[in-house]
Amino acid sequence: MARIVMKFGGTSVADIDRIRNVARHVKREVEAGNEVAVVVSAMAGKTNELVAWTRTASPMHDAREYDAVVASGEQVTAGLLAIVLQSMGIHARSWQGWQIPIRTDNAHGAARITDIDGSFLVKRFGEGQVAVIAGFQGLGPDNRIATLGRGGSDTSAVAIAAAIGADRCDIYTDVDGVYTTDPRVEPKARRLARISFEEMLEMASLGAKVLQVRSVELAMVHKVRTFVRSSFEDPDAPGMGDPINPPGTLICDEEEIVEQQVVTGIAYAKDEAQISLRRVADRPGVSAAIFGPLAESHINVDMIVQNVSEDGSKTDMTFTVPTGDLDKAVAVLEKVKPEVGFDAIQSEAGLVKVSVIGIGMRSHAGVAATAFRALADKGINIRAITTSEIKISILIDGPYAELAVRTLHSVYGLDKH
Ligand code: ADP
Ligand code: ASP
Ligand code: MG
Repeated sequence: MARIVMKFGGTSVADIDRIRNVARHVKREVEAGNEVAVVVSAMAGKTNELVAWTRTASPMHDAREYDAVVASGEQVTAGLLAIVLQSMGIHARSWQGWQIPIRTDNAHGAARITDIDGSFLVKRFGEGQVAVIAGFQGLGPDNRIATLGRGGSDTSAVAIAAAIGADRCDIYTDVDGVYTTDPRVEPKARRLARISFEEMLEMASLGAKVLQVRSVELAMVHKVRTFVRSSFEDPDAPGMGDPINPPGTLICDEEEIVEQQVVTGIAYAKDEAQISLRRVADRPGVSAAIFGPLAESHINVDMIVQNVSEDGSKTDMTFTVPTGDLDKAVAVLEKVKPEVGFDAIQSEAGLVKVSVIGIGMRSHAGVAATAFRALADKGINIRAITTSEIKISILIDGPYAELAVRTLHSVYGLDKH
């Protein structure tokens, strides 16, 4: 007998037929004698619709009321799945975040889980119950519903798995694992049997939305054995119930990966915007004067490039922010202009950041040069570059996103043969 958490994403619970299919996956694990907690997302598209409603109601709305609205999608699917499971003779009950409770901090709209009472769920297992939990939501210190940021049901699942000491956390989605790049962009992408926590963390932070970043962090810290797998396969096909090697991708320690490639995957993030400050005074404290106020306004600055000044007095500073934050960022910068001292602000939206990720880069030279050459051969202009030990990120113009992803995927030999 094992204790497992099964998480089903939006496309997996998109309608009642799919919820029935999800229930068959759950039934398989229950009948194998496992203790099962299920985490569900809202039906595909539902959260987008709810978010849009809050914006239509008022563009500058209260984050606590945003949470009250957008958390509702998961309440519906949790109840529906419990109904279907019950109709199949399984003792199931739905639970919302506040009932367990899944405690979060006060950052409404992007809250972090601070604590989960695992004993609540363990008690339910003792009663032979399958707990169906609404993902994406918890209870803030102000005693109100808080949501965990887009894609947050992944984090609900891994956090619950850690809290109950689960043997496994299975993230069921619309692809059968983690691929070398988004299979929707590059059909030649290959499924990875395993990927290290560090690489998955980079892939997720750099745009691969298959797992929310925070869920990977939690899996890494709490050593949760996490699989990404498909909910669309026949729940009763051979091997689906394999407790050790279920079909899918295992996120694991680097040491568990036998054949390490130099490059593991390519990720991309759309909707980046670039801001350049022209002729900024080149003196100590100038970066703090620019980025301090941006941080205080909760604007996430990403790539930062500062040119070496020619005459030692003025320089150019270029950085990126999410396109959605561009207007806000420009307004903040206009305000601090007298204090910072620069000539002009130039900005451009609709850019894309393409990233090459691989632990093997630590010990291999020339990985970046290969990317630059390949992009140049396709006539793709590079606007900015940042690197770390295991990744290279390149900022390019939006219309080249797909071409760049496919070019890099192929140049590192990741294409399926
Ligand atoms: P869910 O609703 O189940 O949470 P998501 O849409 O959040 O599913 O994530 C799954 C999607 O992530 C896939 O449909 C795929 O298009 C996308 N994706 C992006 N990069 C990758 C990758 N490297 N491997 C697998 N899927 C990826
Ligand atoms: N329903 C939420 C979203 O769309 C959470 C999730 O699906 O993980 O962001
Ligand atoms: Mg998701």
